[in-house]
This record gives sequence, C-alpha cells and structure tokens, in this order.
Amino acid sequence: MSKLETVTTDPKNPADAPVSPDREGGRSFPADGIVSKEQRAEIDAQRETMTPTRRASAPALEEILYEPIPVLDHGFVRVVDYMGDDAAIVQAARVSYGKGTRKVSGDRGLIRYLMRHRHTTPFEMCEIKFHVKLPVFVARQWIRHRTANVNEYSARYSILDREFYIPQPEQLAAQSAANRQGRGDVLEGEEAERVLALLRDDAAQCYAHYEEMLNEDAEGEPRDPARQGLARELARMNLPLNIYTQWYWKIDLHNLLHFLSLRADSHAQYEIRVYAEAMLEVARRWVPIACEAFEDYAVGSAHLSRAGVEIVRRMLAGEDVQQADSGLSKREWDELMAVLGKD
Ligand SMILES: Cc1cc2nc3c(=O)[nH]c(=O)nc-3n(C[C@H](O)[C@H](O)[C@H](O)COP(=O)(O)OP(=O)(O)OC[C@H]3O[C@@H](n4cnc5c(N)ncnc54)[C@H](O)[C@@H]3O)c2cc1C
Repeated sequence: MSKLETVTTDPKNPADAPVSPDREGGRSFPADGIVSKEQRAEIDAQRETMTPTRRASAPALEEILYEPIPVLDHGFVRVVDYMGDDAAIVQAARVSYGKGTRKVSGDRGLIRYLMRHRHTTPFEMCEIKFHVKLPVFVARQWIRHRTANVNEYSARYSILDREFYIPQPEQLAAQSAANRQGRGDVLEGEEAERVLALLRDDAAQCYAHYEEMLNEDAEGEPRDPARQGLARELARMNLPLNIYTQWYWKIDLHNLLHFLSLRADSHAQYEIRVYAEAMLEVARRWVPIACEAFEDYAVGSAHLSRAGVEIVRRMLAGEDVQQADSGLSKREWDELMAVLGKD
C-alpha cells in the first residue's frame, strides 16, 4: 500500500472498526493501528463535510485532507488545514515585481525563477497545518525547527497512550564507524533479537510503572483507593523516548521546504526522514510547481565553495587535479568528488 493510500473505516459507523489486539487499557484503536477510535470518528466526520468556498484550493490535497498517512509503526502525519496554492506564490511575486514579471514566461517560470534566486517571501504566503503523531526522540529533533507554530499533547493534563516505537529489524543498525551520526551494518541473529526484546520489555515495564505511579485506570478512577497517585506531570518522567506524542504543527511553505531539505535528506536520521518524505508527497499534491522547483534547485542541486568552483574550472580546462594540490581537506575533496560523480 502506498503511503497516500490511507486506511479508512466505514464513515457512518467508525465505532464498528475492529480493535487492534496489541494495546491494553487507555484509548482503543481501530485496525489501522495509528489513530484512536475517537480520532477516526472525528476524521470521518470532517471528511464527510464539504464546504463551498471562494478561496484557492488544491484538488489533489483535498483528496487526502484530514486522512492520516501512516509513518513508522504507530505514527502518522495528516493535513488538517492549508492556505494558498502555487497561484498564491505567483500573486505575491507579481505585487513585488509588477511589470518586471513580463520577462518570465508564465507562472511556472516565475516560481522557478524565485526558487533559483532564493526570493523566498512569496513562498511564505502559503501555510499548512499538520497533525503529527511521532516518537518523543523524533520530536526532540523536529522541535529544533523554530519557524513553525506548535501545540503538543499535554502529558501534564492527559495520560499518554501505551504506544512505543519499535524499529523494524532492518532498521536495527550498528553504530557507523565512518560517521558518528550515522548507522552501519544491520544487526543480525541473537543480537538483533536481544535488542528488540530489551526495547519491548523496557517499554512495557516503564509503562506499567507509569500506571502504577498514576494509580488511575482507563476511566480515571483510582486503581488502589488507599493511594493518592503521583501527578501526571511527574509520573511521565520515567517513560522512554520511544513513546509516542502528538502535535499540531503549522508552518509556511518557505520554512516547510527548509525543514524538508534538511530532514528528507539522506543524512537525516531514518525515523525523522520518513515523516519528511511523507510531507514531501503532501507538498507535491499541494503546490506541485513550487515543489518541482524545490526538488530541482534545492534537493537535487549542489553548493560549491569558491575553491570548489576553481577546481571544477581547472578540470574543465583539462588539468588533472588531485586532492594534494586542490587546497581542500580530504573530507571536502571527497564531498566535491561525490557531487561531481567521481567518487
Ligand atoms: C543532519 C543533522 C544533524 C544535526 N545534529 C545536531 C547536533 O548534533 N546537535 C544539535 O544541537 N543540533 C543538531 N542538528 C539541528 C540543527 O543544528 C538545527 O538546529 C536544525 O536543523 C534546525 O535548523 P534551522 O535552525 O535552520 O531551522 P529553523 O529553526 O526552522 O530556522 C529556519 C531558518 O530561520 C533562521 N532562524 C531561525 N531562528 C533564528 C534565530 N534565532 N537566529 C537567527 N536565525 C534564525 C535561520 O536562517 C534558519 O536556518 C542537526 C540537524 C541535522 C539536519
């Protein structure tokens, strides 16, 4: 199933969806395993409601509006609102360029011109709001992007669900020897089984202790009437970083593309990259022309240093340039050769 072929239940009777057996207590989850039954009912109701509007809309994005796109084992990303489309970028640019826009051929040419020349403010005219469910250690990386508006699930106010990210075996990699921020070969056999067992056992034990400290059952009643129970804001401190949280995340297109350029990149950690890749698919539906320009001029492009440009010029002139006489460090040389396809 492609990521954008989302899982749906009968919209008229979401409560009839089968319940996944891997969760005990807390909220109940239908077969898609990523949204609660309450969320599923809300999504289905939102998708049933059609609102006539004079505002710009993106038909391909409308198709998946509100629907969760599954990411990792229990996570998702879904669009809950958006403003503007490719035309909004053009409209804003024409205000600033006026007659100058006659020089570029049509909307696509103008958007590509803006992207190429890093004239970024017209891209800020489009906004998008996501609802994301993600492990806390992914949220730690994600929240470093300061240009979004964020509202997170409150674990002071509510009890976190018993949902933990357990990697697929093919993601259980060893520490990379070459890159301190990367992964090496996949763990195998007994070692892989042991790691998975530790992750599962620790998650189960920490959650059991969390519930014990809270002293609350799923209905909010005391499990042991003789005990007070620890405050939610304190009991959560014992939970592991692979527990899932949720937030609403609103950002303009310019800053979304910046986020995607860093997090959909092959150097980004797999667990955040898969979210970014799902969001890139969303962006392609929302603003296809801007996205095409982004992939041509940002994702698929390369930045050369002054020394790098000089080396390329020397090579084009027929010189056999080597790292030793390039003026570049070994690392920088390797990076340049990779860009030039000579590695
Ligand atoms: C592969 C990778 C590895 C990383 N490793 C580490 C690490 O080891 N340790 C660590 O701490 N972080 C790490 N980071 C996080 C990284 O340093 C950035 O904090 C993160 O990527 C957010 O980038 P940003 O600041 O450009 O994004 P945003 O916060 O979204 O900002 C977008 C842009 O707005 C501007 N801006 C926003 N706020 C300010 C401000 N206050 N002042 C000036 N300009 C501003 C900047 O131009 C910025 O590029 C890593 C990121 C990646 C992608």
